[in-house]
Amino acid sequence: MKVTVLAEKRDYYEVLGVDKSASADEIKKAYRRLAKKYHPDLNPGDKAKVAEEKFKEASEAYEVLSDAEKKQRYDQFGHAGVDPQAGGGYGDFGGGFGGFEDIFSSFFGGGFGGGQSRRNPNAPQRGRDLKYAIELTFEQACFGCEIELNVNRTERCDSCNGSGAEKGTSATTCSVCHGTGQVTTVQRTAFGNFQSTRPCSSCGGTGKVIQSPCKSCRGEGTVRKSRKVKVKVPAGIDNDQIISVSGQADAGKNGGPAGDLLVVTRVKRHKLFTRQGYDIMCDFPITFVEATLGAEIKVPTIDGEVTYNIPEGTQTGTVFRLKGKGVPKLHGNGTRGDQYVKIKVEIPKNLSEKQKDILRQFADNVEPAKYKERKNFFDKVKEFLK
Ligand SMILES: [Zn+2]
Ligand SMILES: [Zn+2]
Repeated sequence: MKVTVLAEKRDYYEVLGVDKSASADEIKKAYRRLAKKYHPDLNPGDKAKVAEEKFKEASEAYEVLSDAEKKQRYDQFGHAGVDPQAGGGYGDFGGGFGGFEDIFSSFFGGGFGGGQSRRNPNAPQRGRDLKYAIELTFEQACFGCEIELNVNRTERCDSCNGSGAEKGTSATTCSVCHGTGQVTTVQRTAFGNFQSTRPCSSCGGTGKVIQSPCKSCRGEGTVRKSRKVKVKVPAGIDNDQIISVSGQADAGKNGGPAGDLLVVTRVKRHKLFTRQGYDIMCDFPITFVEATLGAEIKVPTIDGEVTYNIPEGTQTGTVFRLKGKGVPKLHGNGTRGDQYVKIKVEIPKNLSEKQKDILRQFADNVEPAKYKERKNFFDKVKEFLK
C-alpha cells in the first residue's frame, strides 16, 4: 500500500485567489480563470498530475463558495462546516470528485478541445476516487497509527469478469451502428448535405450490446462491495490533511486502474496540548510561592512526565522550551518539534486570617527594591508627573 500525504487542505478563498468579501461574480470569474488554466484536457503532459490536483482543488472550492448555503457554513465553521463527515463517523462524500466535471461542463458546455474530447467509451478508464474522513486522537496523529476503514466501493464483477455479459454468453455487435459506436446522419438542406456523426445511442457508443446481462452486476461489469481497508497514518500528520491510498477506491473500466482512496484527517482536541505545526504548546500553573522560590515541576509531554527546574523569581507568562518534545515530523526520520510551556503564576484566593497575617508580615519585611519592575514603573510615573 502506497501512502502519500497530498497536502494540507487550503483555504477555499486562498485557492481561488479571492477576498472573503468577493462577490458571487468575482468567485465565478476566479474559478473560470483557474479551470481554464488547469483543466486536464488542456494539460496533456501533466504526468505528475499537478494541474489535475489544482483543478480538483479549485473545483472543490468553487463548489462550496458558489453555493450560498455552503458558503455561509464554510465562512462560519471552515472546512468542517461543509464536510458531511465532520459530525463524526465515516462515509463517502457523496459525489466524490465525479461532480467536478459536471460543474465544469455547466460552465463551458463540455467538449473542451473539440473532437478530441470525445472519448472512446471502450478505452481504459480510471475508477473514481473516494473521499473518506477519519477522526484521530492527538496522540494518534503525533505518533501515527493504522486505521481500518469500511470502504463502500465498486469492484470488478467476478461472475462475468467485468464483461457485463452472463456466464457463457458474450456481447454482440450493435446492429444499429454495426460495431463502430457511431451513427452518421445526413441532413439535406437548401445549401447542400450536412453530415454529422454522433455516438450511437442504442449501445452508448461502445459498439457492443449485451443480450443477456450478468445477473450479479445487471450488466454493469462492476458490483458494489463494502471492504475493510487498512490505512497507515504516518506520524506527524495534522488536521485537514489528505492521505492518499492508491488503487483502493472504485474499480476502473475496460481494464483501467482503480481510483485512489483519499482519507481526510480530523484531529481531536487535546485537553492539555495544542499544536502549532510540529511544536506543542501547553500552559502550566504554578503557585506564587513556587514562582518566588523556584521549584522542581513535572511537566506532561506526549512521552510522559519530564522534570524541569523553575528558577527563583519566575514571572507569569514565562515560556520555556523542551527541545525535541514536540510532534515527530512527517517523513522526518525521527526529527521532532519542541514543546513550549507557558508559566502562569496563580494567586491564591480565600486565604484564612492566619495565612493573610503571614503575608502581611512578609510584605513588611521586603524592601521595595526587591520588586524591580514595580520600582522602575513608579520611578517613571514620578518623573512624568514632575
Ligand atoms: Zn457481472
Ligand atoms: Zn451501436
